[in-house]
Amino acid sequence: MADAPRVYRQRERQVDARAEGAPDHLDGLNDEQRLAATASGAPLLIVAGAGTGKTRTLVHRVAHLIETGVRPERILLLTYTRRAAQEMLSRAERLVGSASRSVQGGTFHATANRLLRRFGPAAGLPGDFTIMDQGDAEDLMQIARATLGVAQRNKRFPKKETLQYLYSRHVNTERSLDALLHDEFPAFVDWQKDIERVWGDYTRRKAERNLVDYDDLLLFWALMLDQSPELGARIASMHDHVLVDEYQDTNALQSRILRGLCGANGRLTVVGDDAQSVYSFRGATVRNMLDFPAQFTGARVVTLERNYRSTAPILDCTNALISRASERYSKRLWTARTGGEKPWLVAARDESQQTRFVADRILELHEEGVPLREMAVLFRAGYMSADLEIELARRKIPFDKWGGLRFLEAAHVKDVLAFLRILENPRDEVSWYRILLLMPGIGETTARAAIETMAQLAWDSGAFGRYAPPPRARPAHDALVALLEAMRNATPTDYAQVSADIARVRTMYDELLRDKYDRPEPRLADLDQLQVIAAGYPSRLEFLNAIALEPPQGTQDLAAGGADQEDDVLVLSTAHSAKGREWDVVFVIWAVDGFFPLARAIGDDDQVDEERRLMYVAMTRARNHLFVTYPIHTYGTRRGADYTMDQLSRFLDRGVRETMERVALGDNDATAPPDTSPPAQPVDLRALLRGRFNA
Ligand code: ATP
Ligand code: MG
Repeated sequence: MADAPRVYRQRERQVDARAEGAPDHLDGLNDEQRLAATASGAPLLIVAGAGTGKTRTLVHRVAHLIETGVRPERILLLTYTRRAAQEMLSRAERLVGSASRSVQGGTFHATANRLLRRFGPAAGLPGDFTIMDQGDAEDLMQIARATLGVAQRNKRFPKKETLQYLYSRHVNTERSLDALLHDEFPAFVDWQKDIERVWGDYTRRKAERNLVDYDDLLLFWALMLDQSPELGARIASMHDHVLVDEYQDTNALQSRILRGLCGANGRLTVVGDDAQSVYSFRGATVRNMLDFPAQFTGARVVTLERNYRSTAPILDCTNALISRASERYSKRLWTARTGGEKPWLVAARDESQQTRFVADRILELHEEGVPLREMAVLFRAGYMSADLEIELARRKIPFDKWGGLRFLEAAHVKDVLAFLRILENPRDEVSWYRILLLMPGIGETTARAAIETMAQLAWDSGAFGRYAPPPRARPAHDALVALLEAMRNATPTDYAQVSADIARVRTMYDELLRDKYDRPEPRLADLDQLQVIAAGYPSRLEFLNAIALEPPQGTQDLAAGGADQEDDVLVLSTAHSAKGREWDVVFVIWAVDGFFPLARAIGDDDQVDEERRLMYVAMTRARNHLFVTYPIHTYGTRRGADYTMDQLSRFLDRGVRETMERVALGDNDATAPPDTSPPAQPVDLRALLRGRFNA
């Protein structure tokens, strides 16, 4: 009853809006965007450049569907990150109210997980499977590789990373191993049969241990749709509309899933920009966009050309940059946002001057009233911000880092998580292995023997206790048995349960950490942080799922359980992780050949093209100010490859530079260009000086 007045007001508002002619959930869209948001019937492809409002249009389309009577829980919104889905849905909520909270939104992988927990058991996949991250998958591949003995016989047999990479590529691109080897690893062509045997063993191990890797999530989803007409129909009938953002970064398997979900003429809306496709290294293909009209009968294609994000000078620069690319759907963007300064191209003497420039400029802009959260520093790879991070910390400028090495990839964090994982899934061999090798007195042989015994005992939860260790390993064995026992018997109380689990693990683990490292403090602090984060989840399983599926991009992201943060912090991000976002002020640092593009991409035209698109993604994040910086000298240790001279990134060729303001930093780091507008009260410095010295 308490809610009644609010519902009533909402209806009233809708009626008012309709009375004025246009429903207000379509306000703030231009004609093309409106067409796309309201199109009905056929599959729809919106293909348009950066900042043209693709994501905004998708949000309004969700709102429009709800307003026209589609039940929100029957709408599926697929995005590249969980955070993107959350943001889009909270914007939809502002348009049509809380109904939009029931929209199913998330990444392909999270959606696959949800569906597999529900439909997997009917298809031979027990619902309590553990999701392995890439590192775990590599470790399991290593176990398979070692067991088959192929690697011992052939020294040059592919390493675990390569085996896992090939497997992932094979699954996601749907290309044969033979073709992949010929294209990418000609030296391994002769090992094809052996690689397949390792994959076979890997697959068997996953099944026995009920483990699922990232690729399997999508693969199983596709298989349910493809292979079981009945299950496929049940899954497809859950949604009336499917919408996908950033379609240019989906792969062949994801496109197959969409066909299975929506049928050839189904209610599918995808939006993307071929000029921003930057994930081909993960198997994504722009072909999905190019072939969309052929794959989905009667598809409509809408293009958008007006950019709303950036000022004209920034757009001139990014248009010039991307005009060098061999894109297929060509588009020249325009904007009504005239005025504003040209993007700066800043030459610094060396890295430390580049760092100082960025930090100085951030503080200046902050003083002028730009909040820190409206500024971002972007770079090609995570390690390139190290120097800047130190400087920011020194100056007490708070920042959040996206991409690069993640908190959850740290060995000590993975160690602690392994304990939680074996409690959830006692068959999780990879985690057992990890834990056993941590224990004093337990080495490879003992670990293997223990795992062997547990397998024989069908992995029941007491199996480890019944393994008889050699004398040297007895104390460790006893301690571990006692710990696991205590954790299993603890009664789940409230939200603090997962955090309490971690605290129990730490009664044993902290000691190991102190023995292993001279300076354990930062690692212990990470574990404190992990405990805080864990307190936000209702159960071990939900906690493990959340972090396996979408490793948080920054620690802030984690602490909030993925929700928005209101804190005023600067963002440091890899260009990849900045996709889809925008800031008032953007710095792109290390615009140097060998850094951006990366050295390893140089020499391969396709890769250089992808690097250029990535630079385009980075530079098109800026609304009002764009600074591109490069150090002229770098010191040998930082260089990855055989580059001896630092050169400005090849992407900033003469035509692009002409759209920029070139700025060289003086020794005193005077960063502002001359300000030529005369003050209202005229002043003549020379005359003043002459007067003072009676010249
Ligand atoms: P990207 O390719 O980078 O993902 P996009 O095409 O998805 O970009 P959006 O992020 O949706 O673009 O929009 C870019 C900016 O332009 C946003 O701030 C958005 O609110 C604004 N915008 C888009 N369309 C309009 C419009 N019709 N009126 C006013 N602002 C708009
Ligand atoms: Mg977008």
